[in-house]
Amino acid sequence: MVSRTRKRASLHTLGCRLNQSETLLIQQRLKDEGYEIVPFGEPADLGIINTCTVTNLADSKCRQSIRQFTRRNPDAYTAVIGCYSQMGSKEIAAIEGVDLIIGNQEKMSVVDFIGQEKNEKPIIIREKISRDDFSVSYFGDAPFNQRANIKIQDGCSFLCSFCIIPFARGASRSRDFENILAEARAKADQGVKELVITGVNIGTYVTKEGDLLSVLESLNAVEGIERIRISSIEPTTIPTELFDWMNDSQHALLPFFHIPLQAGSDKVLKEMRRKYTISEYLEFLHLAHDSVKNLYLGTDIMVGFPGETEKEFEESCRVFLENPFDFCHVFSFSEREGTVAARRADHVQLEERRRRSAHLRRLSSKKRYDFYEAHLGTTMRVLFENPKPDFWPAYTDNYIRVVAPRNALNGEDLANRCAEVRLNSVAADFVEGEIVRMLD
Ligand code: SF4
Repeated sequence: MVSRTRKRASLHTLGCRLNQSETLLIQQRLKDEGYEIVPFGEPADLGIINTCTVTNLADSKCRQSIRQFTRRNPDAYTAVIGCYSQMGSKEIAAIEGVDLIIGNQEKMSVVDFIGQEKNEKPIIIREKISRDDFSVSYFGDAPFNQRANIKIQDGCSFLCSFCIIPFARGASRSRDFENILAEARAKADQGVKELVITGVNIGTYVTKEGDLLSVLESLNAVEGIERIRISSIEPTTIPTELFDWMNDSQHALLPFFHIPLQAGSDKVLKEMRRKYTISEYLEFLHLAHDSVKNLYLGTDIMVGFPGETEKEFEESCRVFLENPFDFCHVFSFSEREGTVAARRADHVQLEERRRRSAHLRRLSSKKRYDFYEAHLGTTMRVLFENPKPDFWPAYTDNYIRVVAPRNALNGEDLANRCAEVRLNSVAADFVEGEIVRMLD
């Protein structure tokens, strides 16, 4: 048997982009402390499972992952952190082999709480989530694939009727301004060129130094950062000043919006407790579409919300088809205990939710294809990512997935470099591109 001097740690993430970026930071801290990181499923001495609680199904997937780890690694120290730890600590504590359960307030400090020995009973750290601004004390050298998430905000105070996030992650709060910039500079020094601005409800960012606009303005000035992409942003929170920056080729902000719509009828939107009517949403959407050149517009639509009739579902499809959306993430409504919507008695049959979801996904694929096709023959800037065996993947500024042959430019290394690429043909869910010239 090979002798081991380094302890092995295995991490697993369930849920959103925010959870993924947080896990990466924790992973890097473990590496710095001498742990060897092994894939989830391999024998380990330490397991950290970063959980999600967005639906009852998500809870059950978390429990499965925890059991999977503790069964395979009965002697390993097992820590469960994140949203499900915040909301369901008792259920997690009932799983044999769990040593530590940490909610959202302290989860980024999990490494400080890890013990040498297993605990007889799990330690539960589940503090009330603070309403104050926050800082991230450890940036590490997290690995990146050219794009790096940068979290500027956490929590949400909007209380949509289907969503547990305001309870699991607490009320909306913003990250210290200087702390964001420090991380951005560190990432740029590491070679990161594209930042993806993340948070639960980023449009509500506000500290004494400023709002989302101030953050973007300052990030734009960070040397080395060439592209800034805003992740999902709530419709009522988007400043129109962003349009000018998106049009300005000297500004790093990319022409990209992902604005959750959720439903196509005012009745359903009201029951979801969303903060806009269809006409308000569409007025903004068209303004953005008409103001920003080559803008990508993505959205989220939920199908099968309690009481959603066939006609209301068709309205969602119609609104999606007849307006300048380029893609939609389709979510089937899934009960989440503790939410207003889960208590309703008029749930749509599961089978019917699946049918609606499949239908809307087909419409979305078709729209994305049309969006890609509309750009054929044009030349656009891309940032190449790490290579796949046969090709170099990249995204254009407006989020068209492009691939170039692996042997392009005589097999030169293209990773993390910008280029101008001519878009030649659409193949399934990407576009084949030909490099016109490298930009760096
Ligand atoms: S805006 Fe609504 S859906 Fe989004 S996190 Fe807040 S409560 Fe949840």
